Order: sequence, then C-alpha cells, then structure tokens
Amino acid sequence: MPERRTKRGNDRTQLGGEYDVLICGASFAGLAVARELRGARVLVVDRYEVGERQTSACAAPTEWIRALGLEGSVKQTFDRLVVHTPHGTSAWPLPFTFSTFDYPRLCELLDDQNDAEFETAKVNGRSGFTVHTDRGDLTAPLIVDALGWRRVLAGSGYQPPDAPLSRGLEVHPHGSGGDLELWIDRSYVPAGYGWSFPADDELRIGVGSFEPRFHVKEPTVRLAEDLGEDAVRYQGNWIPHKIRSAAEDGVFFAGDSAGHCLPLTAEGIRTAWYFGISCGRELQSVVDGRATREQALARYGAFSDRHRWKFDWMLRAQRAVPRVPPRLLRAVVAAMGRPALSHRAFGHYLRIAPPPSDRLVAGADRIADHVHHEVNRDAVRATAAG
Ligand SMILES: Cc1cc2nc3c(=O)[nH]c(=O)nc-3n(C[C@H](O)[C@H](O)[C@H](O)COP(=O)(O)OP(=O)(O)OC[C@H]3O[C@@H](n4cnc5c(N)ncnc54)[C@H](O)[C@@H]3O)c2cc1C
Repeated sequence: MPERRTKRGNDRTQLGGEYDVLICGASFAGLAVARELRGARVLVVDRYEVGERQTSACAAPTEWIRALGLEGSVKQTFDRLVVHTPHGTSAWPLPFTFSTFDYPRLCELLDDQNDAEFETAKVNGRSGFTVHTDRGDLTAPLIVDALGWRRVLAGSGYQPPDAPLSRGLEVHPHGSGGDLELWIDRSYVPAGYGWSFPADDELRIGVGSFEPRFHVKEPTVRLAEDLGEDAVRYQGNWIPHKIRSAAEDGVFFAGDSAGHCLPLTAEGIRTAWYFGISCGRELQSVVDGRATREQALARYGAFSDRHRWKFDWMLRAQRAVPRVPPRLLRAVVAAMGRPALSHRAFGHYLRIAPPPSDRLVAGADRIADHVHHEVNRDAVRATAAG
C-alpha cells in the first residue's frame, strides 16, 4: 500500500468559503490550469497530497516536459519505440523523444508554478456553483473538474464497464531497460497492448485493454513474468477513450474528465496539459475582466470541440487495429521501422496536441486543417493502393 500522507483526524478541519476559481483535481490537468492563473483567489483540492498517488506510467514527449520547465523530473529518454508482435519485432525511430519521469517530482515542479491555495478533500458532488467535499462546501463562480474519468462534477458520470473506458494496470518492479517497448499480441490482450517503460531504476510493465470487460491483471502478471520481473507495486485505473464536452452546465472540464486522453495509445498526459493550459487561459480572461464566464466556457468548449475529429479518428483506429489480420499487422509494424514513415506518422501524432514552444501552436487551427487534409489524402492514397 502506498503511504498515505493526506490529512487525518484533527488535521482535517472544516473547509468553506468563496474563491474566484476552484480547481478540483491536482494532477496533470488541474495543475496545468492553476499555472495559468494570476491575481485571483484560487483553491486547488484533491483527495491526496500533490504527487502522492501516481496515476500513470508517466511517459510523455520530452519537448512538452521541457516546455513546461519540468526537466528536473525526467528519469530516462528514448528516441525509438520497440514494438513486438507474435511474428516479429520492429524498432520505430521517433522524430521526437519520449521521457519517463518521476510523478511526485513532476507534480511538485508543476505545483511550484502557481500561487493557488491547496487543500486535501474528497469531492463528492456539486449544486450550482457550490462543490460539496468531505470537509465542507466550497463556492466559486469558476469551477474546473480535473478529477479524472469519473467526471464527478457533471450531471451524469460514467459507470464501467458500460462506458467508453479502457482498462489499464501496471506493476513497478525495480529494474532497468534501454527501450520503450510495446506488445501488440492477442495472447496478452485481444484488443489493446502491453508495455514496459523503463524509468532509471524501475520498470513500469502493464497491459491496457480497449474492452472494459476484459480483465488485465492476469496478462499484466504474465507479461512481467515473461520478462523475468516481479509483479509488485500495482497501479491501475480506467482510461476514457471518447472525448466529451469540455464545458457543461457552467463547469470547465480538462484532462480525463473531458475524455482528453487519446484513443489507441491511451496517451493522456500531454493532452491534459494542452487542454488544461487552454482552460487556464480562458479562466484568466474572466479574472482580468476581458470575458464573461459564459464567453470563456463557449470559447474553451469550442477549442476542445475543434480537436474532436482527431480523437474520433484515433478511436476509429483503436477499433480497427484489433481486427487487422496478424500477418498484415506484422507488415505494418515492420514498415513503421522505416524512418520516413515513422517520422511522418509520429509528426502528425504530436501535432494533435503540440508543445507550447512549438512554432506550430501559433497557427494551430491552420495546422489542424493541414493535418486533416494530409490524413484524408493518405487515406485516399491507401484506399487507391489497396
Ligand atoms: C496504467 C496506466 C498507465 C498510463 N500511462 C500513461 C503514460 O505513460 N503516458 C500518458 O500520457 N498517459 C498515460 N495514461 C493515461 C493518463 O494517466 C491519464 O490520461 C492522465 O493521468 C489524465 O490526467 P488528469 O489530470 O486528467 O487525471 P488524473 O491524473 O487521473 O488525476 C485526477 C486527480 O483527481 C483526484 N481525484 C479523483 N477523484 C477525486 C475526488 N472525488 N475528490 C478529490 N480528488 C479526486 C485524483 O487524486 C488525481 O490527483 C495511463 C493510464 C493508466 C491507467
């Protein structure tokens, strides 16, 4: 069991009061929102202390980590992805690097970038602009739900296994490795993949299933055993694979609560940062008196919606990949070993949520149109060739 450091007993005093902005959730999305806010009374609440409970395998594009000034948390950096299928292995050269990082350290560094207050409290629900917690009621005209897939502050939450959620579980044995590795292998999971992400002195070995009814504990243990590693220190969660409205009933949703995790890859850290930053900037415009709450909600909701086609496209790929015949899958995986193809595919992929330093960000919509055009052109070519 991870050590619990959150307030207990007499330390859990009653909370209350009015804030300008209330951010519920202090992980990737919530802390990204908070870093954009100045000159307002902001409260961040989470059921755990910041960085106390790791919520992922913690791999993200290094450019993003650098752009946010979080390099101090990096454990290991990779410039290729090694992909295993039952019929062979291929190394995909990446046009940008991924890094694994230390979750508590990254959260600490990100948290240092805001001047918000923080309290540990479990959020139970909301009535209008009052949020109910296990330590009392908190009120704010601007409320953010960055609480993850449960979308606690919406009228209707998700209930697994009937909701569009994937299932992910990993173990964290001590150990080391040189590559980010994936297994697209139906003997582990019929629809999904396995992974091993080295992080200096630790391996994060897991299995994710796009089908929520498929239990991933046995294959996670088996993959660890097949790699000669101990299945210890478990960490798992549901992963949303369908984007949802980012502005609903007066509340802003960012990260997993808005389904901002990418289908097929289940990459949700940089997207939580990307949409969290956008959300924070819209909130700041209200704090500054440059916009009303309704205008900010409409603008942020529209920003998220403009990305919907990319998420839908990834979801179509998520549904298609498990149906690809093994030999064809092997051919595609092998072809991706060619730098020209791999760089092109991953270049498009990064631009779904490019890092803030990226010169493409300024023309994000123009780029989105460009990528849309390119993807469609590729699809037409593939159809013609096939
Ligand atoms: C096993 C696994 C491995 C993954 N690996 C990767 C990876 O390597 N790279 C990647 O990009 N993505 C990965 N993901 C996806 C990624 O973890 C999520 O998309 C990402 O964490 C979303 O960030 P978030 O801030 O929206 O939500 P979360 O990180 O889930 O944070 C939600 C926060 O809200 C708090 N909270 C929840 N409910 C309450 C409540 N009722 N009251 C108070 N606080 C509450 C939690 O304590 C938490 O701090 C992985 C997911 C899983 C399950």
